[in-house]
Formats: sequence, structure tokens, C-alpha cells
Amino acid sequence: MKDGFGREIDYLRISVTDKCNLRCQYCMPKQGVAVLPHEEVLTLEEIFRIVRIMGTLGIKKLRFTGGEPLVRKNLVKLIGDVDGLAGISDIAMTTNGLLLEEQIDALKQAGLKRVNISLDTLERAVFEQITGYDGLARVLAAVDAALDRRMRVKVNCVPCRELNDGGIEALAGLAREKDVDVRFIELMPIGCGKAFRGIASEEILERLERQYGTARKVSPETESETAQHYQFAGFLGRIGFISPMSHKFCGACNRVRLTVDGQLKLCLHYDNGLALKPLLRGGAGDDEIRERIASAVKEKPRGHSFSDAAMQGHEEKRKMVQIGG
Ligand code: SAM
Ligand code: SF4
Repeated sequence: MKDGFGREIDYLRISVTDKCNLRCQYCMPKQGVAVLPHEEVLTLEEIFRIVRIMGTLGIKKLRFTGGEPLVRKNLVKLIGDVDGLAGISDIAMTTNGLLLEEQIDALKQAGLKRVNISLDTLERAVFEQITGYDGLARVLAAVDAALDRRMRVKVNCVPCRELNDGGIEALAGLAREKDVDVRFIELMPIGCGKAFRGIASEEILERLERQYGTARKVSPETESETAQHYQFAGFLGRIGFISPMSHKFCGACNRVRLTVDGQLKLCLHYDNGLALKPLLRGGAGDDEIRERIASAVKEKPRGHSFSDAAMQGHEEKRKMVQIGG
């Protein structure tokens, strides 16, 4: 399925819940966000139907996210159901890791291939300060549990001046000890993220080279890869940078998002898209939904413009916990 700029759209990120068991300061207000009433949230059957239809439109890769995806009941069943659907070849998840260890065997058996685990620090007290919960040990146990099952693991960190600046080098060191990619994601000015100062990828790379020696740049595995990877001598895993602020990568964007309330969201930064819930619940047939999705995708914006006054008014008003990153 191609968008209006000729980009091949083959990646769907699915937010399965707006609930979360953490309160990361740059993502979620301390008091939480008002969660949607139960009936507003897509059922697992509705999500399955959208994936089945989008599989026939050329979606190959799925990523489950949230809120925290692992707090959604019966997610394992949904993963098992979408695994093996026509077209779907890769199923991944982005999680904070708190509930991962206890579900890892069931998830793997259902068809989950890869996990991205969000982790911003290796210091227990800083973890608690950022997330509001003393959970570092559980997240580290989840990283090991996934590696033990031979799953591909990426650790994602959002560097923030006010929160975890002092522990960036130590966190990168995880990739020295373990076969994980540690990736640094530039903070985007969305929702609570606006209150913090992110740290540019360039600065982090410089700091890591000062500590660990010169890194070798690794060629991307796919054209649409958003991260730039580096290999440090003696490291088992790689270091990655996702730099939406300093190096816009929208030209190679291959993704759309399904929000928890059934909006097909075309760009992280814009609030427009296609409301699928009225179609799903209003008796629309598969063909009609397929056509509506294909024509909505043609309207995918060229790119984000966090610094562009022209798009004001269409800016995303949801918080990141409601979008899924
Ligand atoms: N709860 C899961 C987790 O934390 O992995 C999935 C949802 S969370 C919204 C997905 C990712 O978005 C996390 O890695 C988080 O650090 C990141 N994130 C949240 N707010 C962000 C922001 N303003 N800019 C960049 N990344 C952000
Ligand atoms: Fe929850 Fe993930 Fe947001 Fe943290 S980043 S508050 S874990 S949704």
C-alpha cells in the first residue's frame, strides 16, 4: 500500500490500551490520564479484524504498544490470532518490561518475535524518580528473560537533561555486557514531553566515544530503518540513535498507527486520520473498510513539523501514553 508520496506503508503500530502501570514523567502526568470508558476501546476482535484487512493491503509488520500493552487482558490470544494471518510476517512489542518476565513464554509461543524494552537508567533511585515505581530489578530481569528465550531485544532510552543525564554512559554499557541494542531516542515535544529538555543524539555519541572509544557506523538493515546504529569495540550489542528532532527521517516513514479508540493515525505528530470504530460498529463490510483505509493512507502527511507554525491547529493533542510512541 503506497501513500500519496510513494512511500510503501507496511508497518502498523497498535496501541492496545491507554492504561499504564508506570508514570514516566515525560509521558504521563503523575495523577494519570482519564482513561477511556470500556466501550470506547476497540475489542480484541475488532483489532483482529483491522489487522486481517490491513494484512491484505500490504501490512507486514506489527508492533503492539500502549499505554503498557501487557496490562491488556488476553493480549497473548490476540498475538496468537494475528500470527499466521495472510501478509503478517513480523510481530513485535514495545513494553516497559514490568510484566514481561511472567508472560514471556506465552508471548513467544503465541508468535512474538522481538521486544523493545523501555529503560531510561540503571540507577534504582533514578528509575523510581522517573517512573514513580521501584521496578528496575524487574525490568532488568525481563531483559535477561527475553534474551534467554533467544528473542531479539532492544532497550530504548529517552535521554532528558532533568532526569537521566548522568547515567547515559552506564546505560549504554548494557550493550557491552549483553547482546542487546541500546537505543537513544530524542525526546519529542508531545504532551508531558514539552516540559523537559531532550539531549541530541550527536551529544550522546560524542560522550559515548569519549568513554568507550571510537565507534564504527553500521549500515542500515532496511531502507525504512529509523535508527542509526554504531558498533563499539568489545560490545556484544550495538548502540542506536533515533533522532526525530535533529535528523528528521519522515522521507522513509513506512508506518501508520491504530489508536486504542480505533483511529487510524497517519503521523505521530498530527491528529488527523480515519475513525474506524464507526465503520466497525456500523456494519461496514471488509471491502468498504479496506477501501477507506487505502484512501486514508493516501493522505499521510509528508512529515512531522514540530517547529512549523503552519501546522498549528492539527497538532496532536493526545499524550504519548495515549498514542503509544
Ligand atoms: N509503555 C510502553 C513503554 O514504555 O515501552 C509502551 C508505550 S510508551 C508511550 C513507548 C515509548 O515512547 C517509550 O519508549 C517511551 O520512552 C517513549 N516516549 C514517551 N514519551 C516520549 C516523548 N515525548 N518523546 C520520545 N519518546 C517518548
Ligand atoms: Fe507508561 Fe510507557 Fe509512558 Fe512510561 S513511557 S508512562 S511505561 S506508557
